[in-house]
Order: sequence, then C-alpha cells, then structure tokens
Amino acid sequence: MKRESRIKNILKWLNHYLVFFLLVAFVITCCIMLFVSTLSNDLGITLTNENINAAAKLTFLNASLITLIFTVIDAVRRKLTVERPIKRITQAAEKIMQGDFSVRIKPQSKFGADDSFNEVIECFNKLAEELGSVETLRTDFITNVSHEMKTPLAVMQNYGTLLQAADLSDEKRIEYAKGVTDGSRRMAEMMTNILKLNRLENQQIYPKISEFDLGEQLCECLLQFENIWEKANIEIDTNIAEDIKVKADEELLSLVWNNLFSNAFKFTEAGGTVSVTLTATEHHAIVKVKDTGCGMTNDTGAHIFEKFYQGDTSHSSSGNGLGLALVKRVIDIMHGEIGVQSTVGVGTTFTVRIRRG
Ligand code: ADP
Repeated sequence: MKRESRIKNILKWLNHYLVFFLLVAFVITCCIMLFVSTLSNDLGITLTNENINAAAKLTFLNASLITLIFTVIDAVRRKLTVERPIKRITQAAEKIMQGDFSVRIKPQSKFGADDSFNEVIECFNKLAEELGSVETLRTDFITNVSHEMKTPLAVMQNYGTLLQAADLSDEKRIEYAKGVTDGSRRMAEMMTNILKLNRLENQQIYPKISEFDLGEQLCECLLQFENIWEKANIEIDTNIAEDIKVKADEELLSLVWNNLFSNAFKFTEAGGTVSVTLTATEHHAIVKVKDTGCGMTNDTGAHIFEKFYQGDTSHSSSGNGLGLALVKRVIDIMHGEIGVQSTVGVGTTFTVRIRRG
C-alpha cells in the first residue's frame, strides 16, 4: 500500500514537472527566437549551426533548472495550503463517523492560506456542533422518557398488587382501580404530548392557516376550565379586545392557550385570580395570561421551555414538563414570541406576541 502511494506520488511529481517544463520551454524558446532574430537582423549577423546547437543546449539546461525550481516551489505550496488542510478535514470527518462529535478544526493561519478552506472549516465546525447537540438531545430525551415512564408504571404496579388481596372492601377496590386508571391516563397523556412534540419538531405538522377571531378562541379555551376554577374558587378577570382577527393555525394556537391556562390554574391556590388580556396593534396580537399563584424563581424561569423540565415538584403529580416545550415550539413555528415574568409568592405572567397576518 505504502509502495503504491509512493509510486503514485512520484508519477504525480513527474506529471507536474512535465507540465511546467513544457510551459517554461515554450516561453523561453519564444523569447529567445524573437530576441535572436531581431538582433541578427539589426546587426546583420548570420548564425551558424554550431552557434545554434550550443545555444540550444544551454537553453535546454536553463529550462530544466527553472522547471525544477518551479516544481519544488509548487509542491511545497500545495503541501502547505492544499494537502495539509484537506488531511485535517478528512481526519476530523473520520472522527465524526466514529461518533466523536467534540472534534473541531482550527482555521488556517491567514498568511498564505486559501480562504475557501477556512469557509469549509467553519461549516464543518458548525456541522459538528449541530450533530453534537442533536445527539445530546436524543440521549437526554430517551433518558427523560424512560425516567418519566417509571413513575406511573411503579404506581400502577403497586395498585395492581394491592388489588390482588382477597378480602378487599368495595371502597378499597375502587380506590386502587382508580390509581391504576390515573397512572395509565398520565402515561397516555405523556405519550400524546411526546408524539405531538415529535411531529412539531420534525415539521410534519404544517400550519393550516385560516382567519379567525382570536378573542373568541381565547374565551372558548378559557371556558373549558370552568369546572376547575369554580371548584378551586379562582376568580377570572378578562380584558379581551373585540374583533381581533388573526391569520394562523387555529388548532396549534389553541394548544398554546390550553397549556398556559392549565398551568395558571394548576399553580394558583384557592381564592387567587387568573387574568387574560388581549390587545392588538396593526400587525401583532398580544395575549397576557396572568396568575396570582406560587410564581417561580429566576432559575426555574430559565428552564421552563425545556422538555421534561418541572420546576415545582409539589405539583409534579400532574403534568410531565412537556406543556411549555410544546407551547414554545408552536410559537417558534408561527415566528411569534413568548416571555415570562414571575415573582415567587406573587404570581406569573406569560406574554405571547403573534403576527396577525
Ligand atoms: P408541567 O406543567 O407539566 O410541569 P410545563 O412545561 O407546562 O410542565 O411547565 C414547566 C414548569 O414551569 C412547571 O413545572 C412549573 O415549575 C413552571 N410553570 C409553568 N407555568 C407556571 C405558572 N403559571 N406558575 C408557576 N410556575 C409555572
């Protein structure tokens, strides 16, 4: 193998030498012929065969030497500015193929370097970074899903064992059976959310744009929580501007409101208030969902849009940390913005801004 590549290198070298030689010989011959014919015409000298033979030999030697110098300079240039960066890129690509996404290539020094290689290197480094983060997301996702599945499964197993007891009262039997149903409902909800998120992330859901009244949609979504707010004695305060039409995907947007409302009710104690406000400018609609609930720390606020993140563990029996990740994804697809302001013990306000057209 080594011998083969050495022969290949020699042949390549000879090929370069030959090309340079032909070029140099052609240029020198043309120049000399022009020079000598002009000189001999002007001075009236007649050149003999002997003169021409001696000059031709000298010129041949001269051309060979100049060609050698050119070939060496070109070989060194190629080695430094072409072969070396290509070798570094190939080695890094091989590492990526073996699953090492931490690899990065140092850009070429500016001096004498071909800038196109630096462009390729920059693209390559970005690609490695993206692949690395996708890989981390994938492994994190699998770890999180397995972890989240374990809790309801363990609960269901527990209740299943309890249900096997022979002398169970009707009351206990119903309680344990309810435990199994709740556990399976939680798992089903989580699977639905994972599938939705997965479809949204892979862009399999393309927004179905239609024009609708945003205020009406907000009221409809809010009314679905009527039972909850009545039971928890939570006050509702709405300030919804009329006749605000938006062109957006109605179903996707209702997913946003449902998640924000469900969190507002979940994290607000009895006697608290949930307010919904809709305002609009010529091009944007702004929705604020405010609650007087437990609020969250800055640290929690920084992570709430991450998949499976749950800040308040006292409420972790409901939800699975996917709601706000879904919300964020939908808002991103619609090129909108979402922000949160929260103070522990005072409450939380989510502000969503979407384009109207
Ligand atoms: P889940 O509600 O299922 O836990 P989400 O993705 O909807 O998951 O929310 C992630 C986290 O954000 C919650 O666990 C909670 O800590 C925090 N959070 C969301 N909305 C509120 C809110 N209105 N008040 C306080 N904390 C909130």
